[in-house]
Amino acid sequence: MITGKDIAEILGKYNLDKLAIGTLGSHSSLNIFKGAKEEGFRTVCICKEQDTILYKKFPLADELIIVKDFTELLNPALQEKLRILNTVLIPHGSFTAYLSTEQLTDSLYVPMFGNRQLLHWEANRKSQEEWLRQAGLRLPETFKTPDDIDRLVIAKLPGAKGGRGYFLANSPESFYKKFGEMVKRGLLREEDVGKIHLQEYALGVNVYPSYFSSIIKDDVELLAVDRRYESAVDAIGKIPAGEQLEIDVNPTYTIVGNFPIVLRESLLPEFLRMGENVHRKARELAPPGIIGPFCLETVVTDDLKIYTFEISARIVAGTNVGIGTSPYAYLRYGPNMYMGRRIALELKEAREQGRLQEVLA
Ligand code: AMP
Ligand code: AMP
Repeated sequence: MITGKDIAEILGKYNLDKLAIGTLGSHSSLNIFKGAKEEGFRTVCICKEQDTILYKKFPLADELIIVKDFTELLNPALQEKLRILNTVLIPHGSFTAYLSTEQLTDSLYVPMFGNRQLLHWEANRKSQEEWLRQAGLRLPETFKTPDDIDRLVIAKLPGAKGGRGYFLANSPESFYKKFGEMVKRGLLREEDVGKIHLQEYALGVNVYPSYFSSIIKDDVELLAVDRRYESAVDAIGKIPAGEQLEIDVNPTYTIVGNFPIVLRESLLPEFLRMGENVHRKARELAPPGIIGPFCLETVVTDDLKIYTFEISARIVAGTNVGIGTSPYAYLRYGPNMYMGRRIALELKEAREQGRLQEVLA
């Protein structure tokens, strides 16, 4: 495991005046690079050959390191190159999508903005639930067996990519009927029944608030709110109910983009408290708690209850809707503040105050 001592040693050899901000070339890289440049940092992009057009058309990367595959980030020679460039890595969704938690905590000898220990809490559904519940958030209830189903539930197969194979049921009978149909269609196997996660279905609209936990300012800021644009689920409503039944469409959730949201103002106090509480709990579980961006995945019901079903303790791509400005970043900082820039600002202030190591845990 990479320790604070390892990071201190690496930083000791860095030329801090030439500190660069680096990340994998996808997900929210343009957001991160633009913010870095606006705060005066050099930028390093680890990129696949076929994606280089992105950084030609949007010239925000000072260094392009071409790789075949993002797992090359584990290559010692590549890491050495990043260190020579005085790079601090900003993790985003592609880090956890292409590398394992263990690889990120044990084999990445490059300073990374954030708290690596929280990756373990985030990666496991059970520990993540514990974290959020202990922070006092409202989570959808889970059911141990299909026989306990007494309301509308969503049945999730672990590791189901993009919601493929998810289905809804409102009684044990409807569960077994639908499960049987899924087995017949070859989407599930009989023995999967014990592995299915049964969760109360929160009927409402999805809201994804993005926060920034600042170690330097000792504050949790709400910077942006978005919702997702998902295929096929956002397409189903365009087909009349009769045809929906005929073609048997699956409500999959493959992400295509995001929309900004401005929340009803009376919901803000609760969302602000939730952000504070999640960080406070994280500080107990893995000091110093969340470093930098995090996002809660919530559903708000028609009686204005907020259900949280996931946390991402890193920048989410939904913050791309705020590149330039989001209303909440504007209210806090004035024009031209957004998640990528907020990260760079934190690194700049940490460097000025000689506290860099505190944000590279
Ligand atoms: P990509 O590099 O686009 O394949 O994305 C890496 C990971 O981040 C994948 O697991 C995606 O599902 C997720 N991701 C990418 N873009 C978004 C987005 N706009 N909103 C939510 N998740 C995203
Ligand atoms: P997940 O794979 O858990 O991220 O879920 C994919 C999508 O399914 C989410 O973005 C939600 O829109 C929906 N979803 C998941 N769990 C629930 C729930 N308990 N209640 C309502 N919608 C849910």
